[in-house]
Amino acid sequence: MAELIKGETGAWEVVLGLEIHCQVTSNAKLFSGAATEFGAAPNSQVSFVDAAMPGMLPVINEYCVEQAVRTGLGLNAKINLTSVFERKNYFYADLPQGYQISQQEIPVVGEGEIEIDLADGSTKMIGIERLHLEQDAGKSLHDQHPSKSFVDLNRSGTALMEIVSKPDMRSSEEVVAYVNKIRAIVRYLGTCDGNMDEGSMRADVNVSVRKPGDELGTRCEIKNMNSVRFIQQAIEYEARRQIEIIENGGKVDQETRLFDTSTGETRTMRSKEDAHDYRYFPDPDLLPLVLDQKWVDNINDNLPELPDAKKHRFIGDFGMSHYDASVLVADKPRAEYFEQVVEGRNPKLAVTWVTTELMGALNKADKDISESPVSAKQLGGLVSLIEDDTISGRIAKDVFAEMFETGKDADTIVEKKGLKQVTDTGAIEAIVDEVLKENPDMVEQYKSGKDKLFGFFVGQVMKKSQGKANPAMVNQLLKSKLS
Ligand code: MN
Repeated sequence: MAELIKGETGAWEVVLGLEIHCQVTSNAKLFSGAATEFGAAPNSQVSFVDAAMPGMLPVINEYCVEQAVRTGLGLNAKINLTSVFERKNYFYADLPQGYQISQQEIPVVGEGEIEIDLADGSTKMIGIERLHLEQDAGKSLHDQHPSKSFVDLNRSGTALMEIVSKPDMRSSEEVVAYVNKIRAIVRYLGTCDGNMDEGSMRADVNVSVRKPGDELGTRCEIKNMNSVRFIQQAIEYEARRQIEIIENGGKVDQETRLFDTSTGETRTMRSKEDAHDYRYFPDPDLLPLVLDQKWVDNINDNLPELPDAKKHRFIGDFGMSHYDASVLVADKPRAEYFEQVVEGRNPKLAVTWVTTELMGALNKADKDISESPVSAKQLGGLVSLIEDDTISGRIAKDVFAEMFETGKDADTIVEKKGLKQVTDTGAIEAIVDEVLKENPDMVEQYKSGKDKLFGFFVGQVMKKSQGKANPAMVNQLLKSKLS
């Protein structure tokens, strides 16, 4: 989507902000000891607290707080040493408490910022407004019985981190880059598995439109998106819908909308409530959450290298493009794979073989890097063979294809098929002589100025050597013989 959208009355700017709910990676829930494992039998992971039995008291899970602080530090954000849990009141059939314990006035994490990577190789800073901890609700199941709905409380009380951005994004491309960066950060940190299919990461997208330079327009919130493709489609539809309303003299109503994946349209879910509608108040069962600065510092000192730091290191150390670096660091296992391949080898070759050849083959086979039939050690072995001139880059592609198919080592394939590159000057010279002798007319034309024929001679020599002649030596020998 372009930065500006053309309407009947001129250009419009889309203003976008996100609220992302990330399920905290933790074996137990936010205020109870019940398990959180995905896919367990319905209602098998529910404590009395999660079921909201009268008189039960919530007890904060320190590990979930630590995960939230770790995430806040990863978002370059301010950690609030004192924060408060509040009750957010509403009725849901799958929310037995009748309220969600959340944080409103003072969240555990305050303002921060992250860098997003755009397709043209540029970057943009996006502000983080806050991160707060809250409970998830249970799940209503409407497809188990013809006339009844069931409730599964396994998810009830599970810890969520809600990460709220500032309205800093201006296109669906920026939003997708932002979601991907948040996902990469929480995965690097191990604070959320980032699995959108299983609902561990869900985004609410706030969309409004305005004429460039105008005040912010009225926003609509599109709820519970769990795929970047749908997020993109929803934004594009919603921005156009709002522009049309305003251009036809109407007014956008502030509301919560749902994206219908079958029609690609958004539709009204409910008129948007403001914070006061929830009657937030501090939960009387819980003391303010007070953190020790030393405890926070200790978490900070033990953070892993994060995607942006890794990206800038890759650019600096290996001279790779911003784009290649951002692709490599976007996924932690991919970055680790690359680091193993590049260790002690030519960075340029390592980058090409990982980003172009390997990732191309994985995409085609619809495989994740963790399922790669060629291990990092094996791909490193192939790169070494190219680097020390054992095989040419051309032959390497065939070897790689076979490695990908069979899982065999490069050495084994090269040995068995006799693919070693010919670097023996005498042998190459014999082929060169042969080619020149067989093509006297071409030699004549080349000598009378048709420079372009050089490539023809190179091609013939490579063909006769079955691709095994060292290309640099072929070039050198041809040049001296033709001059
Ligand atoms: Mn929330």
